[in-house]
Parts: sequence; structure tokens; C-alpha cells
Amino acid sequence: MTKRLYYENSHLKEFQATVTACEKFEDFWRISLDRTAFFPEGGGQSGDSGFLNTVEIFDTREDKNGIWHYARTPLEPGSRVTGQLDWQKRFSRMQQHSGEHIVSGLVHARFGYDNVGFHLGEQEVTLDFNGVITREELAELETAANEAVFANIPVQISYPSREELNHLKYRSKIEIEGQVRIVTIPGIDVCACCAPHVERTGEIGLVKLTSVQSHRGGVRVNLLAGSRALLDYREKEGSVKSISVLLSAKENRVTEAVERLRQEAYELKGQLMQQNLTRIQEKAASVSEGTANPVFFEENLDMDACRELVNLLTARCKGIVCVFSGSDINGWRYILGSHTEDVRPLCRHLNEAFQGKGGGKPEMAQGSLKGMQSKIIESILSFTAKN
Ligand SMILES: [Zn+2]
Repeated sequence: MTKRLYYENSHLKEFQATVTACEKFEDFWRISLDRTAFFPEGGGQSGDSGFLNTVEIFDTREDKNGIWHYARTPLEPGSRVTGQLDWQKRFSRMQQHSGEHIVSGLVHARFGYDNVGFHLGEQEVTLDFNGVITREELAELETAANEAVFANIPVQISYPSREELNHLKYRSKIEIEGQVRIVTIPGIDVCACCAPHVERTGEIGLVKLTSVQSHRGGVRVNLLAGSRALLDYREKEGSVKSISVLLSAKENRVTEAVERLRQEAYELKGQLMQQNLTRIQEKAASVSEGTANPVFFEENLDMDACRELVNLLTARCKGIVCVFSGSDINGWRYILGSHTEDVRPLCRHLNEAFQGKGGGKPEMAQGSLKGMQSKIIESILSFTAKN
């Protein structure tokens, strides 16, 4: 059996060991050692990665035969190796995991909810609880979790007997066979867990609960701890600084500045719509009553305005009204309308002739196509002359 050095010292980054086995497994090699600081996947925490001499270990797993270090090159059984953990990764995982215990312990004590799902991913840590937590309560939990971090409480590991376990109140997701390992954060949490943890809560640095959403009758909470919380702070700080520069607003006033900008954009859009409407009304009025099959090409008219123009023209013209918006280079969007004729045959004709797409109802159709304005006009004229 491999000696589990990570249980003796969760902060061991480098160690010496002897290779006890090396075998081909799927398309890589798996190596076992007489002792290891590599934690195999468990308790929601992923297996460690790092190096055995110069051989890269990309994962560590455990099965009934022991702990396996996964590699792409083999190591000679009997050889001595120096193991080196990807410590940054492992330490970050311990920060997240110990942070999760604190939050789950606080939620259990305060609301009586159980942690029914824990995901410790490389990007995201989520905690699922079987009860509802509001945003206000989340903020209170975050404060309490950080108080537990600042108090720098020693994390205790124990291996109680079955008899002692019967009298112990602890959180556990599953019925565990064999020796149960208990992780205790005094005053905060007692939980059965097989993963390595920080030695004192102060190492977690910071617990940030970034969101809470409804999830299967309870909630899912997103957590960032330690270095991940710092990275997130940096990223968000960067965004705020950029927005602040772009809007020439103080960093703590960017929300007001964005709201002002939104209001301005809303008002400008309204003005533009009004101007467009006036332009359209004038354009429609310039067409003599009873004109047959009028065709309009516009450069910058949005689809709402095009539709409005078609409506105004169909009321005073005969045949089919055609309105195009766009350019010869970028292509055209169009709307066809009529009070007296089915516009769909012309729509199909145009789509075929100019690689277009679109369709609609007998009284109105819309689509887009590519072609020269003069060619499109020619095509419409020949179609309307024939029909
Ligand atoms: Zn755990």
C-alpha cells in the first residue's frame, strides 16, 4: 500500500519515493509509488498533477489496487524518484475546498440545509443546498465566512472510532465504509472528508460568494476563495477602471455614468426615429396618388422605418410597393407590400435572381439579397410588365 504523505502533511510539495509498479493503461502509463504526496481524486477535489523526476504527471487516481500517477512516459519499477507537486494548483484547490467547508458548515448551522452537490472545477466552484438562500442572507454568510478566515482557526483532522462517530454530529454526503476521516473547523463545521485541507483558515485568504440562483428546489451558490478571489478582483477592477476612463467618471460613480449614457442613447434613438418618420412621411407624400409599383432604394433605413414607408405607400399606390435599404456592396434588405396583389411571386423571383432569402404573407414579404440597384430595378420592371 502506498503511504499517503498528503495526510501527514497537506503542505508537502516535494518528496522522495520508489516506483513500485508501472503499467500501460488505455493510451498512457500509470505509476504507483511506495509513498506519495499526490492526492488522488476524492471528496469533490481533483487528483494532483506535477512531476516524478522529469516525467509529467497529469492526474492522480485511486482504485482498489492503490494510488496511480498518470503519465505519458513510463518509469522503471524499483527506481528512485523525486516527486514535485503542481503546488499552485493544489493549494488553490485546498483554499476553495476549505472555504466550501466553512460556508457549508455555516449554512447547515444557520438554516439546517445540507450541501447536496459540490463541484470544484478549475474555473468554477459551486455549492448546491436543499433550501432557499436570499441575496441578503448570502451577503451575511459571506461576512461570517470571512470572519472565520480572519480568526485563523486551526483545521483539525481526526479518525474517530465507530463508537465515537455514533456520538458525533457531522456532515456527510454518503455512508462511509471503513475508517472515517473527520475535518473539523472548531465552532464552524464538522464534516467527513478525504481531501487535504489548509492547516489554518487564514490560508484561505478570502471567501467571495459571487452569486446565488434557484436550483432544483434549493439554490446553487458560486464561490471563489484565495487566489481565485484575487484574480476575480483584478479582472473586475480592470473593467471598472476601463469604464471609468471611457466615460471620464470616477471609479465609484461608473454606474451613474452608464445610466446617464443609456438615457442619452434612448433619447437619441427616439429623436432619430422621429426624424426617420418625418423623412418617410415626406417621401410617401411626394409619390403621386395612384402610382403603380413604386420602388425605393434607401441607404440607412431600419426595417421598422422601411415597413412604415411600405404601409404609407400601399395606402396610396397601385400594384406592389418595393422598399430596399442597404447598398450595392453590402447587399440590400427589402420589404414588399400590396393591398391588391400577392407579393410572394415577386419575392421568389428576386430571391432567385439575386441570391436572396426571405418570404412572408400575400400582403407583405421581407428578405435580403445582393445585387446592383440598377439590375434590381430592371428585374422588377420586367417582372411587373409580364404579370
Ligand atoms: Zn470536503
